[in-house]
Amino acid sequence: MTTAHQIVRVAVPSPLYRLFDYRLPAKVDAATLQPGSRVLVPFGRQRLVGIVTALLSDTDVAPDKLKALLEVLDAQPALDAHLFALIQWAADYYHYPLGDAFATALPVLLRKSTAGKPASIQWWKLTDAGRKLDPNDLKRAPRQTAVIAQLLNHSEGVPRQELDVPLNVLTGLKDKGWLIDSEQTDRSQPISRIVSQEKLVLNTDQQLAVETVAAKLNGFSTFLLEGVTGSGKTEVYLQLIETVIANDKQVLILVPEIGLTPQLVSRFEKRLPVPLAILHSGLTDRQRLDAWQLARDSVAKIVIGTRSAIFTPLPNPGLIIVDEEHDTSLKQQEGFRYSARDLAVWRAHKLSIPIILGSATPSLESVYNVEQQRYQRLHLPERAGQACMPKLHLLDVRHQAMQEMLSEPLLQRIQTHLTKGGQVLVFLNRRGFSPVLLCHDCGWHADCPRCDSRMTFHQQKKQLRCHHCGHQRMVSPNCPDCGSSELIAIGQGTERVEQALTARFPDHTILRIDRDTTRRKGSLQAALSEAQSGAAQILVGTQMLAKGHHFPGVTLATILDADQGLFGSDFRSSERMAQLILQVAGRAGRGDQAGEVIIQTHQPDHPLLRQLVEQDYQAFAKAALQERSDAQLPPFTNLALLRAEAPQPGAPMAFLEQCQQWALGLQCAVQLWGPLPAPMERRAGRYRAQLMLQTSQRGELHRLLDSLIPHIESEKLARTVRWSIDVDPQDML
Ligand code: ADP
Ligand code: ZN
Ligand code: ZN
Repeated sequence: MTTAHQIVRVAVPSPLYRLFDYRLPAKVDAATLQPGSRVLVPFGRQRLVGIVTALLSDTDVAPDKLKALLEVLDAQPALDAHLFALIQWAADYYHYPLGDAFATALPVLLRKSTAGKPASIQWWKLTDAGRKLDPNDLKRAPRQTAVIAQLLNHSEGVPRQELDVPLNVLTGLKDKGWLIDSEQTDRSQPISRIVSQEKLVLNTDQQLAVETVAAKLNGFSTFLLEGVTGSGKTEVYLQLIETVIANDKQVLILVPEIGLTPQLVSRFEKRLPVPLAILHSGLTDRQRLDAWQLARDSVAKIVIGTRSAIFTPLPNPGLIIVDEEHDTSLKQQEGFRYSARDLAVWRAHKLSIPIILGSATPSLESVYNVEQQRYQRLHLPERAGQACMPKLHLLDVRHQAMQEMLSEPLLQRIQTHLTKGGQVLVFLNRRGFSPVLLCHDCGWHADCPRCDSRMTFHQQKKQLRCHHCGHQRMVSPNCPDCGSSELIAIGQGTERVEQALTARFPDHTILRIDRDTTRRKGSLQAALSEAQSGAAQILVGTQMLAKGHHFPGVTLATILDADQGLFGSDFRSSERMAQLILQVAGRAGRGDQAGEVIIQTHQPDHPLLRQLVEQDYQAFAKAALQERSDAQLPPFTNLALLRAEAPQPGAPMAFLEQCQQWALGLQCAVQLWGPLPAPMERRAGRYRAQLMLQTSQRGELHRLLDSLIPHIESEKLARTVRWSIDVDPQDML
């Protein structure tokens, strides 16, 4: 027996950057452990699940301080070598503690020792009796009917995770002899779904895109699929996926939070005859683990998910797709601040497989990578099928009579479209009734007690709500300062616009879609189908309504206020605004009727708006990149933010000033800006400040942060604040 490896180095979930060494107890054979294995370890008074990072023969920890690990939790490491390396690399790159990085990346149930043994996956299928059922037998049980209908299409069965009904519905049907469940052990058994939709005949541009990627399936390359809204990017994905799964490989598809709709999933289900694993935030912990295991066991050939799905195991990878690659939801904004898009490129590189980044409005980072010939651009300049791109118009609203942000010419255009039977989409990126409630007699206004911001007035609920911290209270009919009843609502949100539209178009159905109208589970889906069916003629909403949806009846899309993004304090404001305008525009004219887009502005000569309207996104992106280059901003330099917040006003600045001193002493080629109070200094009762680090040499940034963190960890001041590091920040506020 060898005594070489008696020490195990473990990443324990904790905010500390260091790893912890444990002794191997005699009962555990070192050969059963590998980097990536989960172990149960004592940690202070707790017992925590950690991940083994290395097996060692000795340690600096004194023998009497060295504790023994308690248990090895998996026979096979929970993380394969590739996933282990991915998380380790991401923790290094984003300067996040490794133990916490593993904890964020793993399904919740794998962070608990109780769920140690991976459960096998449950499958359900129809019995012969079930197959012959007369649908009339089940008339009064719609959920049972739905399950049976779903199973009828899948002769080999469906994993539990894909059946959206409570377990008792399934066991009820089982008791009647119509269903059986199987603890499917024989994974080699083919599982097929009946394809109910034929593939489309590709147009020339789509064909070229598919052929270009298909020719390079055997190695790493990054493609930027830049296709205008409705150009058939999804069809390109689908046809490439068919090729990849025909080779028995897996495909990972990342989509933004708003993009993962049942419509998208059913489009994949109808076309691809293989099991899917779907990962989104609405899953229970159990469902999430099931999906993870379906992927890990290679049962699921396709994994579709939002940001965190980047950490799904793929033993047989063939292709990665990131749809709407510019979307900000792909970057986590708290805790482990990773960019799922950038990690996806890393994964594809290490796995030697291609990756496609798709968007109508790619991020300037990706456009730049094409210029640098790191990415290959695939272009779909036209809409697929019969539809044409809508025409964009700027509407100068200076001197116009306005009704709650709706100018008279706009209202008349809306009327024209409605008369012709078209649907109209009205976009405003602000929910609630009005952003300010003001006392006409004394000047009081409703401020959030916890933030440097106003509270938004929500008329229907008679509430004031802070959109930054969630604080809310009932609005009283009188001014709290002077008692006057002359309270006036200033400015417009979607609720108020909806009201104005109702007054003007009383004979039309108006549907508002924003976070307030879609809180209940399933309500967004219901609203989207109402919009899609054409049952609602006027759709009012925020970006929830603008992104990705296919509303074939919409002939007019309008942006009520394009000026908001022109003067934002973040250097990315104009990029975001351009993306949003084109997303909204992309909702018009997708069906048989041509579309039109009207953009209201007080700045009709603004160069950004003119570029978008008279030229296209590419022209805009080129000009915007030039500005970034002149200002030495990303992607031409690299940024990181060191943030701090605390309930005491002075603490964050004092802490960051200390950090600045250390950083200066390290003599790295990194410029320091600040520290400065955050643009919104107080939020949710905490004062916030930030120190910006900027450099043209990425390595220097990492060197600085690596040296800085031990200083911070040993510093008393650090305990007075909550601090965090954000590498490649997407939001500077
Ligand atoms: P995108 O993802 O680029 O916004 P979609 O893939 O959703 O575009 O396609 C938009 C519409 O065009 C869909 O209704 C789709 O069925 C249709 N479409 C896509 N490709 C073709 C094609 N080659 N021929 C006809 N219709 C197509
Ligand atoms: Zn008052
Ligand atoms: Zn607030």
